[in-house]
Formats: sequence, structure tokens, C-alpha cells
Amino acid sequence: MNLDDLDRRYLWHPFTPMREWLAEPPLVIERAEGNELIDTQGRRYLDGVSSLWVNVHGHGHRAINAAIAEQLGKVAHTTLLGLASTPSILLAEKLVSIAPPGLSRVFFSDSGSTAVEVALKIAFQFQQLRGFSRRATFLALQNAYHGDTIGSVSLGGIDTFHRIFQPLLFHTIHVTPTIDDLQQAFSNHGHELAAFVLEPVLQGAAGMLLQPPGFLRQARSLCNQHGVLLVADEVATGFGRTGTMFACQQEGVTPDLLALAKGLSGGYLPVAATMATDEIFHQFLGLPEDRLTFFHGHSFGGNALGCAAALASLDLFEHEHTLANLPPKIAALRARLNEKISPLPHVYEVRQKGLMVGIDLRRSRSHAYSPQEAIGARVCRIVRRHGVILRPLGSVVVLMPPLSITPAQIDRIVDATAAAITEATSDPPLTLSATLPSPPLHSTALEPLRGIFLVGTDTGVGKTTVGVGLLALARARGFAPVPFKPVETGAAPDPEDALRLRSAAGRDDLPREIICPYAFPTPVAPALAAEQASTRLTLADILAAARRAAAHGDFLLVESAGGVLSPYSEDLTAADVAAALGLPLLLVARNTLGTINHTALAVAELRRRHLPLAGVLFVNTTAESTPDRAHNPRFVHALTAVRVLGTLPFLPLPTSDGLAAALRANVEVDVVFPNLK
Ligand code: PLP
Repeated sequence: MNLDDLDRRYLWHPFTPMREWLAEPPLVIERAEGNELIDTQGRRYLDGVSSLWVNVHGHGHRAINAAIAEQLGKVAHTTLLGLASTPSILLAEKLVSIAPPGLSRVFFSDSGSTAVEVALKIAFQFQQLRGFSRRATFLALQNAYHGDTIGSVSLGGIDTFHRIFQPLLFHTIHVTPTIDDLQQAFSNHGHELAAFVLEPVLQGAAGMLLQPPGFLRQARSLCNQHGVLLVADEVATGFGRTGTMFACQQEGVTPDLLALAKGLSGGYLPVAATMATDEIFHQFLGLPEDRLTFFHGHSFGGNALGCAAALASLDLFEHEHTLANLPPKIAALRARLNEKISPLPHVYEVRQKGLMVGIDLRRSRSHAYSPQEAIGARVCRIVRRHGVILRPLGSVVVLMPPLSITPAQIDRIVDATAAAITEATSDPPLTLSATLPSPPLHSTALEPLRGIFLVGTDTGVGKTTVGVGLLALARARGFAPVPFKPVETGAAPDPEDALRLRSAAGRDDLPREIICPYAFPTPVAPALAAEQASTRLTLADILAAARRAAAHGDFLLVESAGGVLSPYSEDLTAADVAAALGLPLLLVARNTLGTINHTALAVAELRRRHLPLAGVLFVNTTAESTPDRAHNPRFVHALTAVRVLGTLPFLPLPTSDGLAAALRANVEVDVVFPNLK
């Protein structure tokens, strides 16, 4: 079994919809050099998000590798519970020397979430020890993200991440990042707050949201006035990302507690730290008879290899002048974003602080993309073809390259992102053959198919009629089209639609089984018809049959059974077959009452699955006109912004040539045949 299959069989990926993941071959990274990741096929990708915001000086940096190896020669790990270790001592000293003045104690853990969790518990216990037992509530920013442990999730305000866990969470007050609201929140709740927790200057996972200048200073001053601790979560913003070592330094603020992780070890190993002021630390000393303890500790807190990596990374900041080298990079990034990204029609806003960037995509000024459209994910999927790895936050595309990024690499990332946004936001995709999704399931070693996949909004909408006309058109344009209708039900005795398609393609020489491998007599959904014939339709068999058919020509026209979610079996739908084949889709809709709803729903489902939809083709399936006919396409377009290719008029005696002529006259057929001679 190869790595792709093993991954899909055994791994559970974080923050990843696993159903979608399992439907596609994974991108498996094998190694990395500098700012590039290299997959198992040897393809290189720029690490546009620093391996989820952690990498600082590039991958495989000799100095960090050597420091880890040297430490490994001594010892990999010893506990900090009741025992000290050389690298953790040296790292604590180093952190105190570079952190905002006044932060004098370091508590080690192993992730951003634990660094925040530690800060919460210290703040809470500190207030208790001071005798302020009522100060038990935390204030956080709206849309906050501080990690995934239950305490840090309680602070969080990103509904999609946190809603399900609501019953497990403690109550937190949220405030918008404006000075007025902050003042109001303190005057209402100042007396009950243990701490105000925030990401200073900009909120990363919230979508790269910038705070107004002076906001952090104001927060510091309100905390002082009300006896509330200020906790800065610099898990994302720390270690140079915003242009200074720590974002707090941009406003000259020292928080009472500072959470650090991600870039702390240069992004090499899981090391995290929570820094505290002397005042807080001393509260935990108490009297000898109090035997006070902070009851918290992780097995790997202060791990020796991680601390060695962190020390080497901080040395590099000095020896490679990492911070001093940043301003020209930040300016180049800004200039390139202004030039290439901001002018794109669906870019609502580009937010940048240092090397942290959020590109906010909207359908229009007044309309957001719906979550189902997964526009950010679409951009990130496309940008891989341009050799860049990105990861979105909803409809915000994030760029956060390592600080070691070069000007030429900045250009590459921005150019690739601009191309991907242009492609992902154009409707339909610009060039169909170039927008095939990444290699389809079960056929990774095979050439992509060329052709079109006809799917209906429902059964009986005129797909075969459209297919017949398209096949005739394909022939007229010099191609050897082959129809493929995986299943036909109600085939008693013959699958009539499949045979019509075969004639239209001029391929009566081909056995019926090549065109239509499954013909069932009962006129019901394919899954049921197969069941009644004691058969089970599988994706693998259908794909193999499609490949067999495709081998007989150079353009495969697939007519799917029924509508988008028509079942081929209990766990296989027409949309699954479309996804696996990787062909562009043409959605056929019957132009009659009810079509707006059916078509909009079908479009939404196809988009949710990131299937490359070429457009919608309406069919007048009856002679008599209804009052809605002329208006249905307009409403569908207005509701979904899908490309409407036209309406095929009703033909009383449709021949394949007649249908071809009607399609040519009324429908943008070039979208279906982008590369035909
Ligand atoms: N805090 C902030 C601001 C973060 O951005 C993150 C992660 O993205 C975390 C905490 C959680 O860090 P970790 O994933 O290492 O637990």
C-alpha cells in the first residue's frame, strides 16, 4: 500500500473535513529546504504560511539542526518537575532579556494552547491568592482564537470552531476591538475580571484583523485602573512576524502575562512559554507554611531539544540580523500586494502587518461568499498548482511566509496567489482543462480525461437531448466523441437514451456495454434498480468502465443518472462520480416552475464539493410556454452568480443535427468545448 492510501486509512487530520480529505489524494511532504517544501514526487512548494505560522528562518537551517543534534548527544528530554535542565535555564534567561521589560519568569509548556491555558490558570489563581475571589471572569476580543484546549476555547469567539463545545466552556465576556467598547466593557465588568486576554495589534486566526493604533496602550491603562491582569497571546504575532520581535513592543506595552509558542523554537519543535511579571510570581511564593504551588505541568514542558532549537533560533535573530532585514521585505510584500492583489474584483480588503497578511474575498462589496462556497479553500487548492502552499481562514486567504523569505520568493507567492484568486473567483473557471481538480480518486497514475460531465437538477430534465446535440457538435468540430452513460434504469429491453447517444456520436460500432455498462429494467433510482438486480454499483467499477469508454475516442461525454445527489448506491452519488472523474460539469435544468430552487440547490452542492462547474443550461422540455420561462435563468443567475449558458428551445422532432444547430444558436457551447479544433 502506498503512502497516500496509508494516510487515508490511518490518519485523522486536524481541522480537516475528513470526508473530503478521503476523497482526494493527499499531498505528502517528504522533506524541505529553506523556504520550500518538497513532496514525495519531488515537487517543490513555497511554504507560504510557514507550516502553520511556526517556521522563522526556513527549514533545515544548519545552525538549528546542529543545535538539536548537539543537545541530542547529551540528552533529549528530562522533566522540569522538581528538576532543572541546562537548555531550559539558558532559554528562560534569553527570553527575559528580549521580552518587554518587567516579564521576569518563564513557565514552559509545549503548544500555544497550553501557553494560554497556563496564563489563564496563573491569572485566576493570582487573583484568588490576592483575596479577590470574585475576579473569576475573563474578557476577550470578539472572534478571538487562543487555541483548542477547553480553557483557551472558552476565551474563543470563532463560532464555527467553538459552538459544539459550548456546554463545556466557562463564561467569557467578549468585546469588539474598539477603544469605546473596551472602555464600556471595563466600566461594566472591571470589578469581576481576572484578566483581559488578547492578541496584541492584530488577531491572526480571526482573519488578520488589525486593531486601531493605541488600542493596546488603552487596554494596559484600563487593566491598571481596574486591577485586571493583561494577558498578551503572542503565539502567532511573536518572533518577528509583525516586524518587531513582539507585537507588544509596537505600543511600548508590557503585559502581565505573555504566551509564546509557534516561532519560539524557529518552528522546529513544540516549545511554548508563559512569561510572568515579578509581582505575579511573588504572589505564588506566599509564606513558607502556605506551601503554595501552581498546580500545572506538562510531561514535555521545557523539552531539552526544543529549548536548544529555540536558543539557536534566537541566536540567528542576532547573527543573521533577522529583524533588521525585515523592513524591505515587508515593503516589497506591501507593494506587490497593492499591485497584484488589491485590484482584483473579488478582493474586498488586504490586511497586512509585517509579514502577516489576510486577503479578504467577497462576492461583491455587499455580499460575502457563503461558507459552503469555501472560496478560501478553493484558492488554496488552486495555488498549489502554482507551487505555493497556503491555508485559508474561511474566505480570508492568509499569507505568512517565514522571515527568511527572499524578495524573489515574495513575488512568486503573490503572483501565484493572484492567479489562484482570479481563477477561483471567475465563474465558470477560466479554462476547463486547466482547472481539473487535483488527480481524481483511484486514477492517480492516469491521464486526466477530456470531456464533459452532464448532470441534471433532477431526472427527466433533458440531459439526453442536450447530450445528443453536444455529441453532434463535437463531431462537427473534428473530434471523435464517445458517450458514456454509466447507468440507465427503465431499460426494458434496451437502454434507449444510451443508444440515442451512441448514434449521435456515430459510434454504433461500439457494444452497448461500453457506452452503458449497467442497464436495469425497473424505472427507479440507480441504487434501487441495482439492488433489485442483486448488483451493487461501485465507484471503482464505474471509473474503470469510464476509462474503457474513453479509450475509444478523444472526448468523453458522460451523462449521469438523474440529479446531483441521485444515488448509485447507499454511499455513492452522481456528484461523487463526477468528483472522481475530474471532468468539468454542465448542469442541465428543466425550464419550468420550480427550477430556480432546484438549480440553486444543485449549484450550491456542486460548489460545496469544489466541482468545476462550467455553467447551467436550461432546456424547454415542452412546447407550451409558461409565464416564468423567460425569467427563470435570470433569477438563477442573480441568486447564485452561476454562469447561465443559454436555453435550448423545444424541438418537436429533434434530430442530432437539429439539436446541434439549436445549441449553437442559443447556448454558449464554446464553454463546453474550450479546446476543440
Ligand atoms: N493562540 C494564538 C493566537 C494562535 O494563533 C494559536 C494557533 O494558531 C494558538 C494560540 C494555539 O496554538 P497551538 O496550535 O500551538 O496550540
